[in-house]
Amino acid sequence: MAVELNGRTAVGFEQGRTSDASWFDDLTRIRFAGPVSPAHRVLPREMNVETLAVHAGTYADPVTGCVGTPIFQTSTFLLDNASYDAFADGAMRDVPIYTRYGNPSQWAVQEKLAALEGGRSAMVTSSGMSAIASTIYALTNGGSHIISAYDVYGGTYNLLREDMPSAGREVSFVDPTDLDAIRAAVRPETQLLFFETLTNPLLKAPPIREIAEIAAEANALLVVDNTFLTPVNMRPLELGADIVVHSATKYLGGHSDLTAGVIVGRRKFLDRIWAQALRFGGSLEPLTCFLLERGLKTLALRVRQQNENARRIARFLTTHERVAAVFHPDAGGARYSGLAREDYLGYGGMVSFEVRGGDAAALEFMSRLRLPHVATSLGGVESLVSMPSNTSHSSLTSGQCARIGINPGLVRFSAGIEHGDDLIADLRDALDSLDGKGE
Ligand code: PLP
Repeated sequence: MAVELNGRTAVGFEQGRTSDASWFDDLTRIRFAGPVSPAHRVLPREMNVETLAVHAGTYADPVTGCVGTPIFQTSTFLLDNASYDAFADGAMRDVPIYTRYGNPSQWAVQEKLAALEGGRSAMVTSSGMSAIASTIYALTNGGSHIISAYDVYGGTYNLLREDMPSAGREVSFVDPTDLDAIRAAVRPETQLLFFETLTNPLLKAPPIREIAEIAAEANALLVVDNTFLTPVNMRPLELGADIVVHSATKYLGGHSDLTAGVIVGRRKFLDRIWAQALRFGGSLEPLTCFLLERGLKTLALRVRQQNENARRIARFLTTHERVAAVFHPDAGGARYSGLAREDYLGYGGMVSFEVRGGDAAALEFMSRLRLPHVATSLGGVESLVSMPSNTSHSSLTSGQCARIGINPGLVRFSAGIEHGDDLIADLRDALDSLDGKGE
């Protein structure tokens, strides 16, 4: 049921408006889409991703008529009656008061991200980890139980393994592609399931739709990290996830020049997460909001080129004798036989592969590449290459690596938007030059 209030349409109206400022913990208060101001462009969510990426959320400045969103580089805003009402109603998320609470630069990029993921509301944060930590803390209580995967991003794994138990949350780690194991891990006190749309670095593809069904049956929330696929390739909310998070540092920003995080979902969850993020202090700077909004305008173009480059590279790698295994949904063979291909609009720009000869040969191979930068991170316009064993997964023992499937010689390649022919030629030259050094 939708109702009008002060000229705006509220969504998810369940009780009445409450003037009780304890709404932080009240999931039934009246809610608007957004937050947005009347100057922010709100487009129907049914529009195509290319259009939403360019136009959704843009702040149409009524004074100057400038075409792009201005950078509201301020930490605070003049107080007026609307601000005082917002304080009284506990609605500080909807009114410009203080940048840690909200800022029109944040609202512009948040509305764009909400539209791209097909969600009602979004929040940008100072990093992907800030988004993930705020979400998990906000949506679970002490005494609860969380289910996640052994091979989620290392920072997430450390948060779940190191911080959650001391905060009173127990965590079970499972293979994210094993539905029976996920089902078996459910307990009466399970509140949250956390999975990634493609895992790092082996690009396992958890069946999000089925996991969402398990979460719903368990009356628990499913949070999905969509960093590796982006909404261009998968929209987890449409598959039944409750919340989507991202490291916007990667594809969403897209230029390896910013650090940011994103959370998208229903407003009642986002309000709760926002309140948590306020206390953690994880809000995003206006200048970085501008960079993120600008980067997002070309998201679909970039990601499609990266998808195509990764697909071509993966196919090429399967033909090279110095490569022992390739991990990519299009060229990874039998390990992707159960993939629900209809849920994917593309398979992303990542390829992992094992160079024969182990870590020493893989290091040598990387040093011979001319185009990609040897650097951790992913999703930028420039190709990046790194080895999980001495970067993201260096804290794991060889036994833990083996359990996940990370074998010696594993290289992770983040395809940029360069011409695929040039990338493949470079990879071929570097692999060919290893002759005689492998097994
Ligand atoms: N999620 C995934 C899948 C990642 O790969 C990363 C970082 O590499 C993060 C979250 C954390 O993001 P950030 O570095 O922006 O905090």
